[in-house]
Amino acid sequence: MKIIPLSIPTPFYVGDVNVFLIKEDPLTLIDVGPKTPEAARVLREKLAREGVKFSDVRRIVLTHAHEDHCGMTKQIRDEAKNAEVLIHEWETGHLFGRLAHQEHRTLMLRSGVPDAVFSDMQKLYEEISLLTDSLADSEYGRLEDEVELGFEGGALRVLHTPGHTPGSCSFVREADRTLICGDCVLKRITPNPILAPDPIDPNRRFRSLAEYLVSLARLRSFSPTLAYGGHGEAVTDFEEIFHRYVRAIDERQKRVISLISGDGATAYSVAQRLFPDSFDHDVHRFLAVSEAIAHLDYAESTGKIAVSLNDGVEVYNRH
Ligand SMILES: [Zn+2]
Ligand SMILES: [Zn+2]
Repeated sequence: MKIIPLSIPTPFYVGDVNVFLIKEDPLTLIDVGPKTPEAARVLREKLAREGVKFSDVRRIVLTHAHEDHCGMTKQIRDEAKNAEVLIHEWETGHLFGRLAHQEHRTLMLRSGVPDAVFSDMQKLYEEISLLTDSLADSEYGRLEDEVELGFEGGALRVLHTPGHTPGSCSFVREADRTLICGDCVLKRITPNPILAPDPIDPNRRFRSLAEYLVSLARLRSFSPTLAYGGHGEAVTDFEEIFHRYVRAIDERQKRVISLISGDGATAYSVAQRLFPDSFDHDVHRFLAVSEAIAHLDYAESTGKIAVSLNDGVEVYNRH
């Protein structure tokens, strides 16, 4: 069972996204790329070199519902006359614009993000959400942890690996300890935990960094020989990248805690101090706030800092 990685262009700063073709019955794509004419053209070309057309696809499996990974799903599904689509039930990005939810607004304002800034973020995300076609409930099925995706010559086991997003999934082929892990493991960058409402209680934040560390340890437990990420080359030295991530997260924890001033700080003000040069760049602001919140939540959960509510806004203090 051969896993064929195909690199597809995206309009995002992160660059190309990896799509994986498994040319066996049922013919499967893992992720598909964004809904842009350019991505569709390149994916068609690269599939054609493998003798595959969109209409041959029988199954589309999504690592997570970010636009660069899932945007073209509906187009391919329609062209392939109702190919099966599978995604974890905790993902919502393929349903509607993520920041459109009232829950996101509540979480952002509670983190000290001014309403006007949130409105700007929302406009930007409305544009980004145009790079995904929504799927109706009847158009996809659910990926479940530990379930095997069967192929004529092998299987991939689904691993629910939350962190980057609540419903992020990875896939393991145990025969040769190969992983496909979406944005959970990327060779050149430490993945961002993205701010999201908790799937169980949307009034709370999803504890992205704590979840991410558990997922990373779970992936490591397979002693992977090869890990395909959602962007860039595959990882051949998982131990090296694991330790690099843990170090980077530890350093960032210390830095975030050091940015809390004597009279306390909101996640928004910590984000501004954490990324002083790039903070005003459109999408970066949302990512910066996500990163600050993820680290503050983690520091709070491990007892390093305390949080209190002041006029509906969370204020963090060092002990
Ligand atoms: Zn992503
Ligand atoms: Zn990505």
